Amino acid sequence: MHALTIDAEDWAQLMCSYLGHTMPVSEQFVSSIERTLNMLGQHDTRATFFVVASQAIKQPAIVREIAECGHEVASHGWTHAKMHEFTPDSFREDLRRSIDTLEEITGQEVYGHRCPFFALMPEQSWAFEILQELGLEYDSSLTTLLWQAQKIALPDEPFVCALPGGREIVEVPALARKVGPVTARLIGGRGFRVMPSSFYLSHLREREEQGLPAMMYVHTYETTPDRLMRYVPSHLPIRERAKLVVAAKAFEVGMGRMNRALHRLLDQYEWAPMRDVVAERRQKGTMPRVVVTTEGKVVSDFAGVLA
Ligand SMILES: [Zn+2]
Repeated sequence: MHALTIDAEDWAQLMCSYLGHTMPVSEQFVSSIERTLNMLGQHDTRATFFVVASQAIKQPAIVREIAECGHEVASHGWTHAKMHEFTPDSFREDLRRSIDTLEEITGQEVYGHRCPFFALMPEQSWAFEILQELGLEYDSSLTTLLWQAQKIALPDEPFVCALPGGREIVEVPALARKVGPVTARLIGGRGFRVMPSSFYLSHLREREEQGLPAMMYVHTYETTPDRLMRYVPSHLPIRERAKLVVAAKAFEVGMGRMNRALHRLLDQYEWAPMRDVVAERRQKGTMPRVVVTTEGKVVSDFAGVLA
């Protein structure tokens, strides 16, 4: 059983906010979630949706529908802010607000979190305690390859972060391979859109042989068959509009092919929400552990103490 995760976010609004401009949540937020729900329905597959809560609050009906279709709704933060921009206090506030909002909309408890860009780095190891403190069971926010670059080896599978005071939280990391200068994550993002299918099929085969779960992530806007460019807001200054048009074109490369591949993978493999995958790993009792010290430092003796 592999984890199927969907990041539900409004591409145009986020890109606009990165340029310092505001725009309302676009119609794409709703239509791309609807399309994703239809696709999962066709394959009778359930997934975890990591939802940006400040966008969810503007379109609560579609977020409620995600939960009513039997999928898990988890936190993708309040505003999709980057991890390195947070202090522990501002992260706690952002996370709490996102959890409260999503729980109010769906009437269901939130169990998991994913930060934007899988960019939780060793410098933000304090986040594990806050995630646990706010009642979450798991997090899926880091890329092991990026931690290795800082000489911290982490398991390439779901692992337990042992926190001070005997508390713990499970981390489900994203795996990646270096392809030239690019970090291509398995299975999702640019790697999924442009790499040959052998890139992720061999990974899935290997995971099944090892008895380990793979994790796939797809953005709702990646299931959009119409041009992303359509959603570039017209009120932006021309230079910034041009930047977004270039970004939209880059995202569109390989999107059609990725959608066909996605249908095949949904057909051929068994997928489940992340919470179910974490529960299965817990039940097996084989999850590796890493220790987070009281100073918020990760000490991993997995493949040698490197921290
Ligand atoms: Zn995101």
